[in-house]
Amino acid sequence: MSARILDGTRIAAEIRAEVAAEVQSLRAVGVRPGLAVILVGQNPASEVYVRGKVKSSHEVGLYSEQHSPSESSTTEQVLSLVDSLNRRDEIDGILVQLPLPPQVDSKRVLLAVDPAKDVDGFHPMNVGYLSTQRPGLVPCTPAGVMEILRRSNIPVAGQEAVVVGRSDIVGKPVAMLLLNQNATVTVCHSKTRDLPGVCRRADILVAAIGRPGMVRQDFVKPGATVIDVGINKVTERADFDRFFGNSAAHAKRLESFQAKGSTLVGDVHPEVAEVAGAITPVPGGVGPLTIAMLMANTVKAAKLRRGTSVPELARG
Ligand code: NAP
Repeated sequence: MSARILDGTRIAAEIRAEVAAEVQSLRAVGVRPGLAVILVGQNPASEVYVRGKVKSSHEVGLYSEQHSPSESSTTEQVLSLVDSLNRRDEIDGILVQLPLPPQVDSKRVLLAVDPAKDVDGFHPMNVGYLSTQRPGLVPCTPAGVMEILRRSNIPVAGQEAVVVGRSDIVGKPVAMLLLNQNATVTVCHSKTRDLPGVCRRADILVAAIGRPGMVRQDFVKPGATVIDVGINKVTERADFDRFFGNSAAHAKRLESFQAKGSTLVGDVHPEVAEVAGAITPVPGGVGPLTIAMLMANTVKAAKLRRGTSVPELARG
């Protein structure tokens, strides 16, 4: 059996189109949702992410601006920038790109973002809203996972869900969203005993670990839905062969690996596609949803701030 591929690129495009339509209707009544992105210093990976976020904002019609304080900025300087953005009415979303340089106190900065503008959903106030099922802003990648399930008609209520990883940005919020939608949720981490055995209980298995190809076939109940959040770069040919072998199915990937010198692999080994019922690919699975949900969160923040009710689709 070969799993149904859950096409995140297609789902993200669908969400971006919906967001663009919402932005149009808001603009028709004089509201243009605005996103401010703060990038401190020059981290090359962060620069790529921020460029993607700003580009996507333009494509869906949001107002966006980028602030790039220098690498040597102090906590106080970043706090003062956040404070000025908190005060500006035309800014609905504030995103502080992580990681911040070591001398900047990330926790203080994230806590300073107005929870109503916290489009990353990391502020403790939004974490509390999520766990008590109140309207608020939900972290983008976890919200994207739920959109993949919903738009692929994969039932959640009553299902056994296992989440591997308990980070504040992925594992914990995904677990909370699944629980809010009435799954029976188990959260695993590096101290979990018999990880393959616990994972095999899952109807829905979410891997957010940061270890390439760690989830193997023996972790997966035949027919289960597998959501692979992991994004890991593979640069060695031996690793490429370990994950993809020399099967014709991966010929295109090999071609691009040889041309670029790298490929992306998830936390789930590609062999899992032979036993899973449905699976997200890497790349092209969860990844594209993150920016799409950031766009959706900015519109949601604009509406919530103006007292408009919003459907809480991702929270059950
Ligand atoms: P993280 O903060 O490093 O958390 C990793 C989690 O995995 C931790 O809870 C850790 O357990 C657990 N873990 C590590 N090794 C394990 C093992 N051998 N067995 C069981 N559990 C283990 O990572 P993250 O920020 O959540 O990110 C996870 C992955 O998702 C990464 O590949 C990252 O690149 C990717 N990601 C993708 C997107 C996207 O847009 N698609 C967004 C964010 C992250 P402990 O808590 O016990 O240490």
